[in-house]
Amino acid sequence: MKKEVFNPFTVVHEQLEACAKILGLNENVYNILKRPMREIHVSLPVKMDDGTMKIFQGFRVQYNNALGPTKGGIRFHPDETIDTVRALAAWMTWKCSLLNLPLGGGKGGVICNPKTMSSGELERLSRAYIAGIWKYIGPEEDIPAPDVYTTPQIMAWMMDEYSKIAQKNQFGVVTGKPLILGGSPGRDEATARGGLYALQEASDELGLDLGYSTVAIQGYGNAGYNAASLAKSLFGCKVIAVSDSKSAIYDKDGLDPEKVQKHKAKTSSVKGFPGAKEISNEELLELKADILVPAALENVITAKNAKNIKAKILVELANGPTSPEADDILFAKGVHVLPDFLCNAGGVTVSYFEMAQNFAMYYWDKEEVDKRLARKMAEAYHSVLHHSKKYSINMRQAAYVVAVGRLAEAMKLRGWV
Ligand code: GLU
Repeated sequence: MKKEVFNPFTVVHEQLEACAKILGLNENVYNILKRPMREIHVSLPVKMDDGTMKIFQGFRVQYNNALGPTKGGIRFHPDETIDTVRALAAWMTWKCSLLNLPLGGGKGGVICNPKTMSSGELERLSRAYIAGIWKYIGPEEDIPAPDVYTTPQIMAWMMDEYSKIAQKNQFGVVTGKPLILGGSPGRDEATARGGLYALQEASDELGLDLGYSTVAIQGYGNAGYNAASLAKSLFGCKVIAVSDSKSAIYDKDGLDPEKVQKHKAKTSSVKGFPGAKEISNEELLELKADILVPAALENVITAKNAKNIKAKILVELANGPTSPEADDILFAKGVHVLPDFLCNAGGVTVSYFEMAQNFAMYYWDKEEVDKRLARKMAEAYHSVLHHSKKYSINMRQAAYVVAVGRLAEAMKLRGWV
């Protein structure tokens, strides 16, 4: 029997269709939002350290720019596909709209395995990618950023390559840069911090005391680690389980996020962390924890395991972690879902702050960034909650209603529909 391959762009279509029904969406708006405005496909020859040439495939999808220049990260991942990038670009479009940012949505991806590449190889690949797409990006056109397996260092190489081609410094062409090259204070932890600000609003709504709450986190990259660290330091939550692609670890008395991070830096995994019990990734998702944080990849909460989820609040720091069938099950069970394009919007929100600082040539301090981020996340959370109650729909559908409603208004005013 042929194995069914998960396609996140099909999920986007299912979600958009449901939203179109709720909103009675104009057919032209619906048809525009069903597909990307523009796609760039590039083949990238890169010289490897052993002297051989390797050809990598890269994509940049500019999904919709009705609200402003397209914006979104670049993933370096072996399983990248054009449909994954399309889906992520659509979610970026909804995300920027939901947060009321003057930005459209886009996403990039390169099929590669950064874990097996040297720093020199990664630099040459990053530069080749920008050389391939430079004509279609720019501080007022399309602004890439970090995502899965791309880092501030990679952003620095990309900004430098674009600046060389433009023959002038163009710090504003990518965000998520190192601080010294026009990065914003707080951008490194912004995805997690934004999610935790949304969680704070949600816990007030549900009457949950975060100081007595337990947390399980799937993924220990930028989002996962910062979520663990901030959940403990901001609210005093007990982080009882974390995982990465190799292992999951559990300690009912609570893990020390900083010590786990040090262990991971030394051994390249959370596996074998002293004193913790090893569990499977599946067990982590089904643990008895008040808060569950998927902070890795798509499609981890599905029809198969949704009924076993015991968390009260689902903090979706990953993009697309929950399938539409799982959404229905979680809604029926009363799990309060903070949907991805609300919950992880802190990253792009601080990227937008970074753009504003780059344009103004004037830099803010971290308190200013955090304060503005908190306000943005709280506003977005409450508008989603309001629509969820108004239409008796789940939080993801409500987020769609707000985001797509704004896009429809912009496109109508622009005379596109
Ligand atoms: N990659 C992040 C996301 O999925 C951030 C995008 C950005 O900062 O432009 O939202």
